[in-house]
Amino acid sequence: MRVLVTNDDGIRAPGLMALRGALLPLGEVLAIAPEGPRSACGHAITLHKPLRLMPVDVPDGGRVFAINGFPADCVALGASEHLGGRPDIVVSGINVGPNLGVDMVYSGTVAAAREAAICGISSFAISIVAYDVLDFGPAAEFALELTRALCTYELPTGTYLNVNVPAVPRAEMKGVAFTRQSRIRYDNRIERRTDPRGGTYYWLTGDRIDRGSQPEADVEAVDGNRISVTPAHLDVTEEKLLAALRGWDLKWPA
Ligand code: MN
Repeated sequence: MRVLVTNDDGIRAPGLMALRGALLPLGEVLAIAPEGPRSACGHAITLHKPLRLMPVDVPDGGRVFAINGFPADCVALGASEHLGGRPDIVVSGINVGPNLGVDMVYSGTVAAAREAAICGISSFAISIVAYDVLDFGPAAEFALELTRALCTYELPTGTYLNVNVPAVPRAEMKGVAFTRQSRIRYDNRIERRTDPRGGTYYWLTGDRIDRGSQPEADVEAVDGNRISVTPAHLDVTEEKLLAALRGWDLKWPA
């Protein structure tokens, strides 16, 4: 079995190495990750400059590379014949920080799983719902179990999974929940500040807004100490709106 692992926290992120280590028993594990942190880069890809792979030494002599690109680049390159051909499964993470609700749009971690879906490869993104993670163990173990499951159960074309693991000790975890993407989003405030030379700069910030609780949502699961697994698909068409639009009185051509 061939697995490609990547992330958006960068090649030196401990979550990547924890994920890689957990999946090694499955067979050949290729790791390609951005040379530095790329969180919240979304589905950025590199089209207008060369991509360079830089080998990284690991004690077991495995194939690990840093890249001067984005998570989606890692998947595109890792799935190419230049690196030995298509992996069976792509796993992105283990991200430090949640990818709930609208995070799925901003996240480079999730974008890597989405890129794999575009390439027709089974994939999932996995994140821990905390910013100071000391123990990747439970998430790494779940990643192994889910990767094994993806050998048994096939994901439909154009789909992928988004996993969020609560940051609680293993003994406090209450199993797995299959969930919907929640309506969590951010109140995107922009702070205006002054730099030491008197110039103005801006800093994006924001507080999480939970727009009411929803049954079976990702955030409900992790708040209840369950691992959230949300199925997602590439097709973003809104069917109800499509039907409504067809009823609009738009005169074109006039
Ligand atoms: Mn990240």
